[in-house]
Amino acid sequence: MIVSKVSTSKVLKLSVHKKKSNKTVLITGGAGFLGSQLCERKLKKGYNVICLDSLLSGRMSNIAEFLGNKSFKFVKHDVIEPYSFDGPVDEIYNMACAASPPKYQKYPIHTLKTNVMGAMNALELARKKGARIFQASTSEIYGDPLISPQSEDYNGNVNTHGPRSCYDEGKRAAETLFHDYHNAYGVDIRVARIFNTYGPNMDPEDGRVVSNFIVQALQNNDITIYGNGNQTRSFCYVDDLLNGIEALMALSEANPSPVNIGNPVEFTMRELAQKVLIETGSRSKIIHMDLPVDDPKQRKPDISLAKSLLGWSPEVSLQQGLKKTIPYFASEISNQLQKDALTLP
Ligand code: UDP
Repeated sequence: MIVSKVSTSKVLKLSVHKKKSNKTVLITGGAGFLGSQLCERKLKKGYNVICLDSLLSGRMSNIAEFLGNKSFKFVKHDVIEPYSFDGPVDEIYNMACAASPPKYQKYPIHTLKTNVMGAMNALELARKKGARIFQASTSEIYGDPLISPQSEDYNGNVNTHGPRSCYDEGKRAAETLFHDYHNAYGVDIRVARIFNTYGPNMDPEDGRVVSNFIVQALQNNDITIYGNGNQTRSFCYVDDLLNGIEALMALSEANPSPVNIGNPVEFTMRELAQKVLIETGSRSKIIHMDLPVDDPKQRKPDISLAKSLLGWSPEVSLQQGLKKTIPYFASEISNQLQKDALTLP
């Protein structure tokens, strides 16, 4: 366990809020993009936060500012191995797994284990502690969908043995485990199918399209569109996504059915590239590269269920979200340049 001292005004603010609640939440993958943003929210709301991360794709820089906070504990651990904690755990957010195709495809067997063993170990802990548990499922469980938009009752079009299978099938198996633990042991599960999400705390080297395009544009490097760029995605800003997840976890009644959380406004990758060029004022030119195998052609959530069940819908447009995200990547690039300059001979 690492608990180090960092004294910033943010930490002081977090301590001030502590009295509102002393519930304990465990966030697996807590040093990753979404996990670290969730750690921050929970600390601000006065929760005790246990952040579990193997640091395989999570980054200490995402959680460095919380390390001095008494309500925050970081535990370096790989979720494929069982774990337990003394004392109560009220809520578990199972968010551990690399989500970027190049990253999760690098160690496919480990990715599958992270999703399956990771779900099992988190569910075992939830069962022991009587905790409510959230599963970060994904739009990837729809594979390369044959219908659009995708609603929760669509069973998907998924390849069992392609390069994306370790993630897609792993997440599908995790959903199955969640439902079986609910049925067999009454575990209070919540499952969100997360559609493409972006925002601060993404790794600039993550490899996903929003981070790639912004980082390329900020450096006036070529923007790499894979294939002809007519494939679509629907991009959700991180704050919208986390509002949806928290609303799902806050429901007083158990809700075992999966719920799509995403922004239904669909863009082609060409349109995304143009928007990034405009928002960054970049001189980059667009180039085309090979389309990865099994790359889904379209993705757009049907969010009727989230609207009716949670009263939730996204509020941040792609343009607004890019405006909030670009300064974050600019500062990451400048920090990296400073580090590189210090290491020059
Ligand atoms: N993509 C692209 N250029 C890049 C990275 C990704 O054109 O530099 C495309 C990718 O082929 C896919 C879409 O952008 O069609 C979204 O890719 P991403 O890896 O962000 O997430 P996915 O939804 O495929 O998991």
